[in-house]
Amino acid sequence: MENRVYQIAVLKGDGIGPEVVDESIRIIETVENHIGQICHFIQYPCGAQCYLDQGDPLPESTLEGCRRAEAILLGAMGLPDVRWPDGTEMRPQVDLRFKLDLYAGVRPIYLYHPNHTPLKGMDTGNIDLVILRENVEGLFASMNAGIELRGQVAVDSMVITRSGTERIVKYAFKLAKERNKSPMKVTCVDKANIFKSMAFFRSIYDQIAQDYPEITRDYAYIDAMTLYLVQRPDTYDVIVTENMYGDILSDLAAGLVGGMGMAPSADIGEDTAVFQPSHGTAPDIAGQGIANPVGTILSVSMMLKWLGQRYHDQRTEHAANLIEAAVRQVMETPDVGTPDLGGQLSTTELGKKIADHLNTIF
Ligand code: ATP
Repeated sequence: MENRVYQIAVLKGDGIGPEVVDESIRIIETVENHIGQICHFIQYPCGAQCYLDQGDPLPESTLEGCRRAEAILLGAMGLPDVRWPDGTEMRPQVDLRFKLDLYAGVRPIYLYHPNHTPLKGMDTGNIDLVILRENVEGLFASMNAGIELRGQVAVDSMVITRSGTERIVKYAFKLAKERNKSPMKVTCVDKANIFKSMAFFRSIYDQIAQDYPEITRDYAYIDAMTLYLVQRPDTYDVIVTENMYGDILSDLAAGLVGGMGMAPSADIGEDTAVFQPSHGTAPDIAGQGIANPVGTILSVSMMLKWLGQRYHDQRTEHAANLIEAAVRQVMETPDVGTPDLGGQLSTTELGKKIADHLNTIF
């Protein structure tokens, strides 16, 4: 079979977005030097700077390019001072999730080195879980459409649908099966003791769980879950939850393994997917060349794995595994990292180090 080359739309965005995306592209190019071309990258403008330049943070031509591509690689979007007239921030990356129906927010959390975690007694690999965030409904369903009454009352609604919940919970159980941890477990995080919407979410979880008797069922209320994640993160496998709870939990979980720079993510739909680090534009460190590129490099590895599985392309899946292995080797070394990890390396130096390790694996 001839080597397949995938069309990848690249949206570098604002702040540290371009800095970390450049390193992730370096990693793919390093792999390609050994096994041939995998990706054809096409860049599109998007984000707060794009709004300043063109009057739209997500121009129609960018959206069209994303629809044509087989996957989308995204950096980060938004600038603190660039806002809509009503004062809200521009979030084209969130708009993309709705426009492309990217319902599954997949956020793996893995501890590469004990020095990266503020917790005591955690060793490499002890924290190994995935937060699955429902991406297109929940408390975000009313994004930009909440109501304010006469300056006295404001309402944003929690929207939970049967079909939306069924597909994310099914995704969670399938993912647990694929990960094959011992024991396999899916934790439903909600607030079913208080909210009708959340009791409904849990009842659908229970229905789907019946089809997976080999997977342990587990439940936690969102407030208790923040405690459990800090006290015993090593007991979790796959965690499934609504949009806003997933948003909060994934930042907390990133903090357990070294911070936002260590957390990759994928926003997956039926037809396409966006791969991006979990972090934002980090305006406090943008332009200094010290952003941690690992989250983005791991996102690129998730992209290759997803493409490989979708198109039954072993070469591309193999490339994903090699990138993961190289990241693991580098990050398991004490004191290697950017300043957020207590290290001394710049973004480019860490990217190059991972690329060098990749070269030795071939
Ligand atoms: P945004 O509004 O775009 O989400 P933010 O600053 O509110 O920006 P993040 O960008 O996620 O949120 O940043 C949160 C914190 O994590 C900041 O202190 C930032 O410097 C740090 N951070 C985020 N990404 C990285 C990274 N790749 N490397 C190092 N530090 C990072």
